[in-house]
Amino acid sequence: MTDSENKPVPVPPPSRTSLPSTTTKKEYDFFGVIQDYLDEAAAAANLELFVRTILSQPKNEIIVNFPVRMDNGEVKLFKGYRVQHNNLLGPFKGGIRFHPDVSLDDVKALAAMMTWKSALMRLPFGGGKGGIKFDPHSVTPHELQKITRRFTHALGMNIGPDYDIPAPDVGTNGQTMAWMMDTYSNMIGSYQKQSVKGVVTGKPVASGGTLGRAKATAQGMVFCLIEWAKEHNFQLEGKTMTVQGFGNVGSHTAVILARLGVSTIAVGDHTGYLFNPEGFNAHKLQDYVQHHGSIAGYPGGKPISREEFFATKADIFAPSALENQIKEAEARQLQCTVIVEGANGPTNPAGEKILEERGITILPDVLANSGGVTVSYYEWVQNKRSESWTEEEVDEKLERAMERAYREVSDYARNKKVSLRIAAYAIALSRIEAVYKEREIFP
Ligand code: GLU
Repeated sequence: MTDSENKPVPVPPPSRTSLPSTTTKKEYDFFGVIQDYLDEAAAAANLELFVRTILSQPKNEIIVNFPVRMDNGEVKLFKGYRVQHNNLLGPFKGGIRFHPDVSLDDVKALAAMMTWKSALMRLPFGGGKGGIKFDPHSVTPHELQKITRRFTHALGMNIGPDYDIPAPDVGTNGQTMAWMMDTYSNMIGSYQKQSVKGVVTGKPVASGGTLGRAKATAQGMVFCLIEWAKEHNFQLEGKTMTVQGFGNVGSHTAVILARLGVSTIAVGDHTGYLFNPEGFNAHKLQDYVQHHGSIAGYPGGKPISREEFFATKADIFAPSALENQIKEAEARQLQCTVIVEGANGPTNPAGEKILEERGITILPDVLANSGGVTVSYYEWVQNKRSESWTEEEVDEKLERAMERAYREVSDYARNKKVSLRIAAYAIALSRIEAVYKEREIFP
């Protein structure tokens, strides 16, 4: 035996940066807020206590730490989550978020919201949500692919086309879903590596996605807004809008509403805010963001501060970024008639109270942005049946689904004298309760 064989191979200590940071104490208790809505809606719906008890925590909380060798040779450890809130009505369903602020509590809140969305939209799905705590803009495309695949591998059989079906969310897109689907398909079975298309939704169309999914969340928001507008004699044509977040949801909302004569006069994302009193060319801005990754440097608008953005007078506000954006201060500044929540949880309870006092309507997330998961369902059905529907078919089905959901929520809110948000929660809870009462608790 030579000397060198005898020597233990030196293992360098992990660098500080390769360790996942421990969760810092959050100043905003997103899960607590969702619990409070649940309590309020449970009271409005006269919900059986045992159902409220079951729904107060997710069924499963999965945390995985997985290593990835980065392009510079360094090994980094990543922390990933999948929270499976409820699957009484069908497989767990919900997005995967890549963002530096991803935390277990936030994912729990978002997973619960998926349960309410699926139930409200009468989809045969439950609710789930997942994510990885990292900034997807800080890695190379090659690293992003490795992180996505290794995360999918770490989740293993915790996902599946009839068990738990991920989809895109903040920081992920169709490409992410194509990698997840491919990894899962290569993982299962010993010999026959078949394409399991239905394991994720929001895939690119060529990989088994559906036409109309990319714009579905925005399209659903617009259908919801149209229903509200009809009910309140609010003429959409000629109105102005501000949009926070210009990713998938915000940009498609601006593009679709531009066709209905609504002009977007202020936009913002993680890089800053822009104002254009003449109205942005939504198409051009969307194109710019697709190529540059953000609105930063777009020549067609004047940079403004966050305060100026929120104080911009416009008829419609479409928060389409992250949770906890409309707090007390923003709620006082806003000068709009209606807020369409494209994001999940953009309004916090203190902000909501002020908006209510000021007579500003909120079309709540669970209703307004449910077009995404609804068209995810259409994709999943097409995958099961080996069908491909036209974009018109998808849009028509979505329109009917959003109309019906809006009517139900609006009627409930009026009859029970609760907000549209509490009405949406209450309808969802009652549907889940009906099934728990029939099935009872195992064993
Ligand atoms: N991430 C989206 C949401 O929050 C879509 C989820 C899905 O399609 O499953 O609703």
